[in-house]
Amino acid sequence: MQQIIRIDMSTLSVSRETLPAEYAGLGGRGLTSRIISREVPPNCHPLGVDNKIVFAPGLLTGTHAPSSGRLSVGAKSPLTGGIKESNVGGTAGVSMARMGIGALIVEGAADAAYVLEVSGDDIRFRSAGELKNQSNYAVGRHLADRYGPKTPYIAVGPAGEAGLAVATVAVSDLEGRPTRHAGRGGMGAVLGAKGVRAIVFPGKGSARQPEDAVRFKAAAKGLAKELADGRKALTRYGTAVLVNVINAAGALPVNNFRHGSLAGTDAISGETLARHCDSRGGRTGHPCHPGCVIRCSNIYHAADGNYLTSALEYETITLLGTNCGLRDLDQIAELDFMCDDFGMDTMETGTALAVAMEAGLLPWGDFEGMKRCLAEMVDGTVLGRLLGQGAHTLGRTLGVTRIPTVKGQAIAGYDPRVLKGTGATYATSPMGGDHTAGNCLPGRTGLNDREKTGQVSASREIQTYTTLFDNLGLCIFVGPVKGSMAAVCELFNSYTGLAYGEAELNALAEEILQDELIFNEKAGISRYQNDLPAFFRTEAVHSGLVFDVPPDELVNAFDH
Ligand code: SF4
Repeated sequence: MQQIIRIDMSTLSVSRETLPAEYAGLGGRGLTSRIISREVPPNCHPLGVDNKIVFAPGLLTGTHAPSSGRLSVGAKSPLTGGIKESNVGGTAGVSMARMGIGALIVEGAADAAYVLEVSGDDIRFRSAGELKNQSNYAVGRHLADRYGPKTPYIAVGPAGEAGLAVATVAVSDLEGRPTRHAGRGGMGAVLGAKGVRAIVFPGKGSARQPEDAVRFKAAAKGLAKELADGRKALTRYGTAVLVNVINAAGALPVNNFRHGSLAGTDAISGETLARHCDSRGGRTGHPCHPGCVIRCSNIYHAADGNYLTSALEYETITLLGTNCGLRDLDQIAELDFMCDDFGMDTMETGTALAVAMEAGLLPWGDFEGMKRCLAEMVDGTVLGRLLGQGAHTLGRTLGVTRIPTVKGQAIAGYDPRVLKGTGATYATSPMGGDHTAGNCLPGRTGLNDREKTGQVSASREIQTYTTLFDNLGLCIFVGPVKGSMAAVCELFNSYTGLAYGEAELNALAEEILQDELIFNEKAGISRYQNDLPAFFRTEAVHSGLVFDVPPDELVNAFDH
């Protein structure tokens, strides 16, 4: 039986509850959003004692379903002011699920920083005083010395300690490095404000058992084969395979979304990344968590053969790279390492840097200047703190009019004037500008991506499937589309013993979305904020395209 563990940091006490029957079918995002919407006052300060941060493995996490090891992290976001779910791979989700933890809720706030040791029934609070101002990699080494190498952990970097809205929650990978991040929405700042520096999982457990093990095994095996055969480009090149694809589509962000394509993207492409991994001793085809068969992650080495970072992804290459005027993969990798080490979202941080360049604070492509800015963010200078509050706050403070954010959060590396379905997702998702809420990649919806017609309903459909995937702990690269639903139904039903059809599963996802939308409305984020920044509607990119999806459709996106 899965349980909810509640850790009150104000009193350093722990309580446990069995997961209530009313939460049947919920895991991951379903649980984080249900708990936050029921227990957190929508108008509370995100870094105050009334906010809570919830960690929930997906419903199928810890089973033998392929690529199902995601961990959802939810709270009221300091970046958007609304509800947030950010999910992450790595080792912690599987570990929690196998210890029988359905959700771990951290509430209240301590006066000092702690490491939480979670071993099944035994939870201890250890002082984290010696970890103050230590970077994530240093914290990882400390935890490895104390608990053994590769013991799963969650960590908050210096950015989270400082309460920066770009702060991530880092999760250790299979090598024990802090390279996987619940990056979006400032979850690291919320956990840091609770007085938690790290959560370590030294306990062991066993795989979650499906109700119908034979049927589940057959479904998992079938899906694993399909993914292994059908995702070879992701395995070989990682998400960076999209660099040339999105550039060819004209949707690559360049210099704060001034352009949609670039000559010479081969230098930063997935193909070049894979070549560097091969020749320098790195690795492609790396799984970010146990049981991923797609394995889109990589370990990237520098030209001298030494470890540089993991994993180097499309979003980082674009938002910390091309959108800031950088064209050098090794430089982008170095910035990626710094962000991981400090615990900063590469997407929000990259966009804040691009906005700083837009404001004239540093030249486009100023690699050394970007490194100085990252250092200032953890040193706590005024500029560093402003950058650390994200692109929206920085841009407004500096009087910038071209700020590519929605509801306070930076959009992803897909230009919404070209990929209009993804633009509709940025505009309407309860998560703010977030491609992981429903990415309408080229060819995914069956529509012409550049046409305005039908994009809102296509986006809503993909958002519904994605919410379901986030509930189950399935990686989005499994494919949140209609064609996956038969396999998903079979996994869900054989695991739970229920008999849901696609309609019932979609209804489950819709309920989760409604929880989030209602929370946001109470927090002051209404449907009338469902739009993109004005410059996307007025400034053309790539052969005259603007974002012209009708505003009233965006406002009414979630009406039935
Ligand atoms: S496909 Fe990539 S991101 Fe998804 S779980 Fe596997 S390694 Fe992680």
